[in-house]
Amino acid sequence: MSNRVFLCCCQKCGRQFEFTGSYEHFNDFLDSENFACQGGHREGRSPRGFVKTITMSEPYPVTEWKATEGLNYVDILDSQLTRIRSMQMDHLGAGLYIDRRTLKKYDYEEDAKGYRHYFEVPKRRVTVEA
Ligand SMILES: [Zn+2]
Repeated sequence: MSNRVFLCCCQKCGRQFEFTGSYEHFNDFLDSENFACQGGHREGRSPRGFVKTITMSEPYPVTEWKATEGLNYVDILDSQLTRIRSMQMDHLGAGLYIDRRTLKKYDYEEDAKGYRHYFEVPKRRVTVEA
């Protein structure tokens, strides 16, 4: 999955910081069980409650794109396809979409030619980090 840059603000101390990673990783970060702020305090709870996302960049293009195994690619820019599937696509910003009917989110990988390969953001996985 392609990385985006998220500019965030800690609402406890006002410190701004950048998070670089895929949209999925960013959500994992927001759901982590504790948070060490660059402003110097530690919190024993998820940052979701007090870290605010100010901006989200578009994903970096991938030089040699190939399909990522395990991702469900859907061409959501094809209006005929979305109509057949009764999808209600809504733009969340920076190229990220949500289907209002199923609440599934769609992110994309951009290849060197500028083509956007949309895929369904996987349901939250349990990630074990070292
Ligand atoms: Zn802080």
